[in-house]
Amino acid sequence: MSDSEEPQQKTVIGIAFGNSNSSIAFTSPDGKAEVIANEEGDRQIPSVLSYVGDEEYHGAQAKSHLIRNPKNTIAYFRDFLGKSFADIDPTNAHSSAHPIQHETGVAFSVEEKTGAEPSTLTVSEITTRHIKRLQESASDFLGKQIDGCVITVPTDFSDAQRKLLAEASKASGLEVLQIIQEPVASLLAYTAREETSHPVDKTVLVLDIGGTRTDAAVIASRGGMFTLLATQHDYELGGRQFDDALVDHFSKEFIKKHKTDPRENERSLAKLRLECEATKKTLSLSTSAQISIESLAGGFDFHSTVNRLRFDLLSKKLVDQIVGLVESVVKKAGMDLSDINEVILAGGTSHTPKIASRIQQLFPSTTAVQAPATNPNALNPSELSARGAAIQASLIAEFEAEDIEQSTHPAVTVTPHLAKAIGVVIHSPEGDEGKAEDKVYVFLEAETAVPARRTATFVGTKVGGDVLIRIVEAKKESVDITPPKEVKEKTAGDDDDEDDDDDDEEEEEEKVIKRITEVEKVIAEALLKDVKKGQKVEVMLNVAGDLTLTITARVVGGKGGVRGTVPG
Ligand code: ATP
Repeated sequence: MSDSEEPQQKTVIGIAFGNSNSSIAFTSPDGKAEVIANEEGDRQIPSVLSYVGDEEYHGAQAKSHLIRNPKNTIAYFRDFLGKSFADIDPTNAHSSAHPIQHETGVAFSVEEKTGAEPSTLTVSEITTRHIKRLQESASDFLGKQIDGCVITVPTDFSDAQRKLLAEASKASGLEVLQIIQEPVASLLAYTAREETSHPVDKTVLVLDIGGTRTDAAVIASRGGMFTLLATQHDYELGGRQFDDALVDHFSKEFIKKHKTDPRENERSLAKLRLECEATKKTLSLSTSAQISIESLAGGFDFHSTVNRLRFDLLSKKLVDQIVGLVESVVKKAGMDLSDINEVILAGGTSHTPKIASRIQQLFPSTTAVQAPATNPNALNPSELSARGAAIQASLIAEFEAEDIEQSTHPAVTVTPHLAKAIGVVIHSPEGDEGKAEDKVYVFLEAETAVPARRTATFVGTKVGGDVLIRIVEAKKESVDITPPKEVKEKTAGDDDDEDDDDDDEEEEEEKVIKRITEVEKVIAEALLKDVKKGQKVEVMLNVAGDLTLTITARVVGGKGGVRGTVPG
């Protein structure tokens, strides 16, 4: 840091590698993470490779080949990495190259060159080719060779899968500095935007709704350290199910008009699915959208429109499932919805306004929901993983390999943490109201990663004398205050006037929740004798990695003090 000479800077990027899409990001010299567009101008690059003639197509171009050349188009392969054939769910690959059994696990058989025998490409090989293309796009954009990357993966990616991913990337010529978890990357993307040098302690739920799966994670952010408290996954819930809701809707319309079902022909279905996805995206921005497909099936063209209200009804069950997943991950973390300070919506499907509004309704108004539909300042949910990865890459670019392992790995995985909040109760014989009272101050919130240390000062006594300090385990309780009855009835009446199409459940009353701190157990007591009137008392709590608690209390400016240790 003291070097005034410009050091040889490494060029590093962040990669979000999804089953549906991937993205690449870099951090500019002013510390801002930016997602890079590939040569076609796409920031969300479909994780698809297609072999046509002697050419290899990648990204959106490859995805469009799902219509004409599905057998030689490889899609939705990320989760197959490191899995045995028996353990994969091939459903998503139904309309593209089918996965086959291979001695290394899973592979695809595609015609790479015209007239040549089909070649067998393992998932590792496909991953290498995909990362190579991403790397080339980044390199073209930045005009530099890329020296390394940080890649994001879901929290349930095994060590074996991570290892294979790192090897596949290395084989493409790109060194992986670190593999980090997607929800942590999303949280990093937001944390990096905060302007304070001391990040605020908070509990965050990251809800990542992608194309083929939905993942939820509860993360405690304490003093800049992240601890993963609980995760939950749904492998059959994602943007594709929302596309299918539209596919079914328009197919019924088509059948009514032309007595033929476009879902029964592979090519018609592929066409309809691609257009439905585009229509769905339009509905995230506008209240209605058009669909127009030439020669959809049986030689008939198809033109129609759909409004957002209809789409919300068609996808209501899916949104209910997402809400259910959120409730269950909070429960798994042993928490209450009101314990979540912030919800970060990540993944492409999080653009859907209805999802964001239902999540906002689920939580009390004190919980911030970061999504484009609920907060105009929210970051693009499709870009969070890549941005977080780029931020992490720039932080660790100059580290040695062991330092990366040591300094960042525990912070985002299994850091020991406090099960209960630790607080201090100061007994004051002449409290604010002139009566004796106990004041509880929470020093260390539950889920604070250890080791941790906090110091605070208090006015010990207003009149002078002994000051009793009790160190306690505390619990924050939520008290649900339901709105007054008249207000409730009025809200219900208003609901009834709404358009019939709207679902009435959604106008739930806003929850008013008050937090109170309850003392659960006294851990230790310290008595400071003969404290003078108005003199300040300093209390320091130090929790070691093995949860041993050391308490030091002293009179500020006085001599001596009290010190004690409680085993963890
Ligand atoms: P997975 O690994 O679950 O397949 P991913 O991380 O590869 O997901 P994402 O880019 O996060 O993929 O999400 C892709 C999904 O997001 C697609 O179903 C896509 O249609 C959907 N999506 C993208 N943009 C929007 C939008 N504006 N409105 C609604 N859905 C969108």
